Amino acid sequence: MVFTGAGISTESGIPDFRSADGLWSRFQPVTIQEFLYSDDARRRYWQYKRATWPLIAAAQPNPGHRAICELERRGQLQTLITQNIDGLHERAGNTPQLILELHGSEHFVLCLSCGLRIDRTSVQQRLDAGEEIPSCASCGGWLKPATVSFGQSLPAEVLERAFHECTSCEALLAVGSSLSVMPAAQLPVVAKRHGAWLGILNREPTPLDDLADWVCHESAGAVLAEAVGGSELEE
Ligand code: NAD
Repeated sequence: MVFTGAGISTESGIPDFRSADGLWSRFQPVTIQEFLYSDDARRRYWQYKRATWPLIAAAQPNPGHRAICELERRGQLQTLITQNIDGLHERAGNTPQLILELHGSEHFVLCLSCGLRIDRTSVQQRLDAGEEIPSCASCGGWLKPATVSFGQSLPAEVLERAFHECTSCEALLAVGSSLSVMPAAQLPVVAKRHGAWLGILNREPTPLDDLADWVCHESAGAVLAEAVGGSELEE
């Protein structure tokens, strides 16, 4: 089992949240409650989404993503749980059915009233044309990327499956996550309690380092590429 966070995608040019140069140093997060009740919050939210989408849309999988895809190709990957919303694991070639996206996906937008699903690029075009708070063309409801905001519950079915998988895996490798966001950070703990080997690959120390069987504080791409056999995964 591999469990990834924002750190696996920094080498693809997408900043994480909590590093010194992470996104929270530039944008203040908007909770779902603020989004639902205030025009000002909706405006700020979409300004942030408009500024970060070009990075996500243009990002390419890096050697870390490709190494995890190689694990699947070799039959060594049971499930890939990710907190990321950038879709880079799928772009790297991992089978969508094996990927559990705990925080949803930035690649499409949902109407919060009627559930209409819209391609993210078309909403970006509307923002670029001057629309500040996009609404649903069909029912007038608020549009929001299909991601989990602060204050919003994680999709129950996906979370349940993730915890279930953690009870049966032989090994769990956590990559590029500060392991500080609950309940996702509990997944490695559950795997360990059920007898799994636990590895943590993260540039900085995490609160779970003492629990792990293997800890490496280096950049994910090079370490993972070397672990699965190296240079042929470089572009
Ligand atoms: P986080 O920002 O809390 O932690 C990221 C960790 O990755 C940090 O501890 C940092 O030291 C480490 N890191 C950064 N670059 C690294 C690298 N190249 N190699 C190894 N480690 C590296 O991220 P998190 O734990 O995933 O927190 C969760 C939230 O961040 C989620 O809600 C997720 O949806 C969101 N997020 C996702 C993306 C994305 O989809 N790419 C980007 C930013 C934030």
